[in-house]
Amino acid sequence: MRKFTLQLTTMDTVSALPRYNLNEEQEKKLILREYRALLRGLKPKLKPGDKELVRMAFEMSAEAHKTMRRKSGEPYILHPLAVSRICVEEVGLGVRSSICALLHDTVEDTDITLEDIEREFGNEITRIVDGLTKISNVIDVNGSQQAENFKKILLTLTDDPRVILIKLADRLHNMRTLDSMKREKQLKISSETVYVYGPLAHRMGLYNIKTELEDLAMKYMEPDAYKEIARKLAETKRERTRYINEFIKPIKEKLDKGQFEFEIYGRPKSIHSIWNKMKKKSVAFEEVYDLFAIRVILNSPTEREKEDCWKVYSFITDEYTPAPERLRDWLSNPKSNGYEALHTTVMGPQGKWVEVQIRTKRMNEIAEKGLAAHWKYKEGTSDESRFDKWFQQIREVLNTPDSDSIDFLQDFKTSFLAEEIYVYTPKGDVKMLPVGSSALDFAFSIHSMVGSQCIGAKVNHKLVPISHKLRSGDQVEIITSSKQKPSEDWLNLVVTAKAKTKIKDALKEEKRKVADEGKYILQRKLEGMGAAFNQHNADILAVFYKMASPLDLYYQISIKNIDLKELKEFHLSGDKLEPPKPIRPVIEHKPHESAAQTAINKKDAELIIFGESSDRIVYNLANCCKPIPGDDVFGFVTTGKGLTIHRTNCPNAAKLMSQYGHRVVKTKWAKNKEISFLTGLKIVGLDDVGVIHKITNLISGEMRININAMTIEAGEGLFHGNIRVYVHDKEELEKLLDRLKKLPGIETVDRYDTEA
Ligand code: MN
Repeated sequence: MRKFTLQLTTMDTVSALPRYNLNEEQEKKLILREYRALLRGLKPKLKPGDKELVRMAFEMSAEAHKTMRRKSGEPYILHPLAVSRICVEEVGLGVRSSICALLHDTVEDTDITLEDIEREFGNEITRIVDGLTKISNVIDVNGSQQAENFKKILLTLTDDPRVILIKLADRLHNMRTLDSMKREKQLKISSETVYVYGPLAHRMGLYNIKTELEDLAMKYMEPDAYKEIARKLAETKRERTRYINEFIKPIKEKLDKGQFEFEIYGRPKSIHSIWNKMKKKSVAFEEVYDLFAIRVILNSPTEREKEDCWKVYSFITDEYTPAPERLRDWLSNPKSNGYEALHTTVMGPQGKWVEVQIRTKRMNEIAEKGLAAHWKYKEGTSDESRFDKWFQQIREVLNTPDSDSIDFLQDFKTSFLAEEIYVYTPKGDVKMLPVGSSALDFAFSIHSMVGSQCIGAKVNHKLVPISHKLRSGDQVEIITSSKQKPSEDWLNLVVTAKAKTKIKDALKEEKRKVADEGKYILQRKLEGMGAAFNQHNADILAVFYKMASPLDLYYQISIKNIDLKELKEFHLSGDKLEPPKPIRPVIEHKPHESAAQTAINKKDAELIIFGESSDRIVYNLANCCKPIPGDDVFGFVTTGKGLTIHRTNCPNAAKLMSQYGHRVVKTKWAKNKEISFLTGLKIVGLDDVGVIHKITNLISGEMRININAMTIEAGEGLFHGNIRVYVHDKEELEKLLDRLKKLPGIETVDRYDTEA
């Protein structure tokens, strides 16, 4: 931990009514225009009487929100109207959902009650609005509450999936209008969007919405990278279009001859996915080969869908050579979110790899409108919906009492939002498991007893340990023994929520048995000292011995980790006993932490104004992302350790901000020249005589920056250098990067985070 002046800026004051100045008449017109647009979208779905209901909902909502305005200054009603339009136009929902969307904020924010809605619109709509009201407060609450809320989202989801679809529309509109929010709020909402809503949209099969949510979140969380990629995409557009046309031409001719009804076009990848690829492969924008995908959409009758898709596949691969390992057949095995298509990657003109996606109109609609479209097509078919299976799994986990909420959120993410693999039982039944599942997960998915007694498995007839990671297509046979029982380390071997919960239950049960012995020892000891053995005293002693609960205390006594000798020093007179302390960790007060402390106590962190720049505050730099002055950072209040500074693009940031938003403190660097920070540079260049000398001369000679360590590897005409330097701030680092890049023979220079 170091002492250092960290300038905590006062919040930027956003003027209440930016760029918005319409008079009352113009506002009315705008509102009516939106309303009419909503009706136009609904038109094909309206049944007699529906129009009146929509109108009533609109009027009720407009009246209730009459005096309210959004942060941008607009009349509030424009928000429910926009959400309703998204539901209809982009999600493909119907009349009832559009009514719910119009009313979604009324119960929460206005005088309208659920009873009012019930009276006017009946039970179905009331239930959905109720579901939306319950989950409307996800922002600005502490971590466990948010997890609790997320649980609620999922409960309502299993109740009526429309709740979650409307909620996603609500979030999408809030993201689209995030500009007028303050910076911290933007970061908080964006990170929550990436953490919860993006994956949820993905899981519901709403690809367009998922992509837009991710792109919008990135715009606020990584503004520079976002702008840079957007700019480069725009710059290269013309060239890309030319290439796409060249690629498409011969395919189009064949399809025309084959009398297909089709559309074929090139579609750019999202900024967020390009960024992900750049980070994952650590390549520059120019090196990301699949900036776009070619999409063929066929208008085929249901019975010919599969056949036609494969025919098109064969046309394309006759023209261009495919990479066999990149063939994805989601026609025979659709993803659990309903996605069906055929994907392949082929070698296009100029030796470039190009991804091609082949699907029918029906499949395309499912890909774009997910769940809603899925329902539309499901009617009349006997196919058991994969969604039903998914909901069933969620219900199972949710129904487990006292599963810890935060854990739950984590487990949920890994087990339900991940992609699946398909594995087979010895009898040939298919089981769907998340990617990364082990033989042990499989065992628990069959039955909790099979899981608890699992000692190994046969995968494709070969013996493997319980930790063995399964792959799609594996056939798995579980081997059990009645002597087996779960142990703590099993928790690291499983990814499914079901297996985790069952293992924890079993461990708890085991612990309880051991703890009984310790409880008995403590009871005798206390009674021997003349103190009561009751809940109150047990709680106090648990705190005294720094245990999370009396059960832990008994357990530790039983396994002799706690010596009860100290008990004598603990004066147990009835009067001195204080009421049990909460088990939740309490953030310690330290005088120098006062500024950070204020942030935790106030509910709405953005209202806090920090002291002047002279405030001294103890902080340390996060190990995960190694910020240096000048980086975009935020402070995170840690229990007892003051403030930890993370970069806003730290891999952990999204999680921290969304789960513990109330502990995030806005921070900014002050100018400082006394302290320097270690950072790493990766340099690639031509292995030329004297190049090393040029580099070191520039760094330590001209720029007077200290070098901490340097390794150079050369081969095949190139050298790879790793240099660790001490810089004062980002500015200095960037200047250094800039000048290094300009040296003759240098190919790339990149910053990396040093291991301490
Ligand atoms: Mn809303």
